[in-house]
Amino acid sequence: MVENLVIIGSGPAGYTAAIYAGRAQLQPVVFEGFSAGGIPGGQLMSTTEVENFPGFAEGVQGPKLMQQMRQQALRSGATLITDDVIAVDFTQYPFLIASADLLEVKAQAVIICTGATAKRLHLPGEEKFWNNGISACAICDGANPLFANADIAVVGGGDSAVEEALYLTKYARKVHLLVRSDRLRASKTMQERVLNHNQIQIHWRSLPISTHGDEVLGCVRIQDTQTGMVSDLTVSGLFYAIGHTPNTGLFQEQLALDEAGYIKTEGKSTATNIPGVWAAGDVQDHIYRQAITAAGSGCMAALEAERWLSQQHSVFISAVA
Ligand SMILES: Cc1cc2nc3c(=O)[nH]c(=O)nc-3n(C[C@H](O)[C@H](O)[C@H](O)COP(=O)(O)OP(=O)(O)OC[C@H]3O[C@@H](n4cnc5c(N)ncnc54)[C@H](O)[C@@H]3O)c2cc1C
Repeated sequence: MVENLVIIGSGPAGYTAAIYAGRAQLQPVVFEGFSAGGIPGGQLMSTTEVENFPGFAEGVQGPKLMQQMRQQALRSGATLITDDVIAVDFTQYPFLIASADLLEVKAQAVIICTGATAKRLHLPGEEKFWNNGISACAICDGANPLFANADIAVVGGGDSAVEEALYLTKYARKVHLLVRSDRLRASKTMQERVLNHNQIQIHWRSLPISTHGDEVLGCVRIQDTQTGMVSDLTVSGLFYAIGHTPNTGLFQEQLALDEAGYIKTEGKSTATNIPGVWAAGDVQDHIYRQAITAAGSGCMAALEAERWLSQQHSVFISAVA
């Protein structure tokens, strides 16, 4: 049995691809994942309120949104398998996909939606204050009332950290940028913007070592990386901007990746360097990294796969007959 289309990953990109491919009668098979690269449902399963996904005027809980997308994928005709893909072979055709439960599936087309994982520091207290002051996404969580006119901290020294610090000045009274070394890695222009901003204070050679508070975050303990001296910074928010790891370990020998490990896609499309394989969502996007952009590119990948399949094969006839 050769499947028309296998989708790997079940975040907004994977489920949206499944909805479109299901409605196009491709009978897609989705490997939702289990523990590799995040849980089924993806990154939004680890957040509370999602305020910026269109269609939810009052906001929606991340897990509820993903549950709705899952139901819609099922209703559209997708088959969902809650298992991690552990190997793929794109050198043979039909492609081969193997899962942890030793399932081997052959497919005429594959859409990769395995997302990315925001790096965390795993500080003492982090689990308790995750979503209660600690976040890895300023655009997602900056408008939380917790941070309105408050002091908050951003950890990191690259372009993302500087961008997040600047973005957060819209909401916070003051942003403390905690930089491990004595220089920023961000571009010159971004550095100038942050150095000249009167709401941003840079703390050089500063490493957060633990987080404290009652119900919500109230303070971050910081160590001077040169002297070892420890001090407490009173803040209501701590934003990690120390990078993301794309979940592409599986594809390293199979697909063209960029220097940071993201899957390379061609121009405005979601096509990879292997015809018949597409990539959508955060696994190929280190710029926007939002649920709506992931969903949008999942839709693109499904439409592109459908067109390609109908040009290449009599897919509908063989699948439906
Ligand atoms: C805490 C937090 C809060 C956020 N809040 C918002 C917000 O409010 N609004 C917003 O727009 N965005 C938000 N984001 C960003 C948003 O979650 C991501 O941009 C979006 O989830 C990316 O979707 P994706 O489908 O590309 O991948 P992901 O959501 O990362 O999903 C990847 C999927 O791939 C699966 N997977 C990985 N490896 C394998 C494998 N080997 N085999 C099978 N499956 C695999 C995982 O199980 C998972 O289902 C937030 C992110 C975080 C971390």
